Amino acid sequence: MTEASGGRRSRVLDKVLACRPEVEALVVTTPENRRYLTGFTGSWGMSVLTATELVLITDGRYVEQAAAEAPGSRIVRHGTDPLPAMKEVVQATGAARIGFEKENVTVGMHQRLQSALEGITLVPTEGLVEGVRIIKEAEELDLIRQAAAMADEVLDDHLHLLRPGVTEREVAIALEFAMKRRGAGAAFEIIVVSGPRSSLPHGRPSLRVMEEGDLVTLDLGVQYQGYCSDLTRTFAIGRADARQREVYEVVLAAQTAALEGLRPGMTGKDADGLARSVIEERGYGEHFGHGLGHGVGLAVHEGPRLSLTGDAALPEGCVVTLEPGVYLPGWGGVRIEDLVVLRSDGAERLSNFPRELKIL
Ligand code: ZN
Ligand code: ZN
Repeated sequence: MTEASGGRRSRVLDKVLACRPEVEALVVTTPENRRYLTGFTGSWGMSVLTATELVLITDGRYVEQAAAEAPGSRIVRHGTDPLPAMKEVVQATGAARIGFEKENVTVGMHQRLQSALEGITLVPTEGLVEGVRIIKEAEELDLIRQAAAMADEVLDDHLHLLRPGVTEREVAIALEFAMKRRGAGAAFEIIVVSGPRSSLPHGRPSLRVMEEGDLVTLDLGVQYQGYCSDLTRTFAIGRADARQREVYEVVLAAQTAALEGLRPGMTGKDADGLARSVIEERGYGEHFGHGLGHGVGLAVHEGPRLSLTGDAALPEGCVVTLEPGVYLPGWGGVRIEDLVVLRSDGAERLSNFPRELKIL
C-alpha cells in the first residue's frame, strides 16, 4: 500500500473535529498512526492533521521516500531540529489548542514541544486514530489475510523440525528465515517453548533440546507490507499422555466456544467469557492467566481488547485473535490461537491451520 485512503483521513478528522473546541488539530507521532494516515513507512516523521490539510514533517533522509509514499500529504523537510518546522506548521493552522498522542509522547518530547509552541495549548488525546484503525478496510483485510496465510504455510513447512534433538531456538530461526525469504518478516519475536517450558505463555526460545513426550508451543506472526498476523499451536512430540490430551481438549473446546459464539456488539469481556467459562467449568480457570485476545493490524497488539477489562463493544469489521490457554507451572501448557475477522453473523477465520492436536 502506498497511500492511505482519503476515507480514513476524513474518518480520523471527524474524530478530531468532534473534540472541538478542546482540540482543533492533532499532532500524530505514533508510527503506526502516522503510517495509517499518510502511507509513509519511514522510521522518523511527525504528522499534523488539521481541518484543511495533512502535513508530514520529516528529515532529509526521507523526503524522496515520503513524496513517493505520501502523495496526499504536504511534505515539510526539517533540519537538525524538527521543532522549528513543527512550530511553523502549527502556527499556520491558526489553532490555539492542539492535540498530541499521550500514549506515545514522552515527558521530554512534551517539554520540547511546549517550549517550541509557546502560546499554544497542548491537549492530551487518546485513541483518536486507533479508534478508526479498529475497523479494517478491504485493502487492509487483504494484507492481513495474506500475512495469516504465510504464517500457516511457514508453520506447516517446518513441522519436520519438531522432533527430539532439535532446540527451540533452531526452530525459531528457521521460521523467521522462511518469513524473510517470502518478502515478509516476523511481527514479533517468535515463541517456541517445549516440555515444562511450555507453561511460559511468552517464553523466549532457548537452547533446550526437544524430547519425546514434550508439548511444544509455537506462537508466530508474519508482518507483510506493514500488516501483522498472529498464530499459536501446541503440538506433542512422539506421543501424548492422558493429561496432555485432556488439557488440549479443554483449550480446544474453549476456543471453539469463542469461534462459534463471537458476535459484533458484545463487549470484549463478554467475548472473553465465552472461552473462560469453558475452562473454568473444567477446573482450570486459575491457569488461564491472560485475556482471550486482542486486535491485530498495523500493530500486532491493538484494539479492541478481549479480556476481563474489555468494556468496549466489538464492532463488525474488526480483526482479533482468539487465544485461550492453560498453563500448569512445572508441567507445561497449551495455547491455540487463531486470527478472525468479525462479520455480522460471527467470526470468520483468517488462519486456517488445523486446530486438533497433532502428534509429530
Ligand atoms: Zn500470538
Ligand atoms: Zn496474540
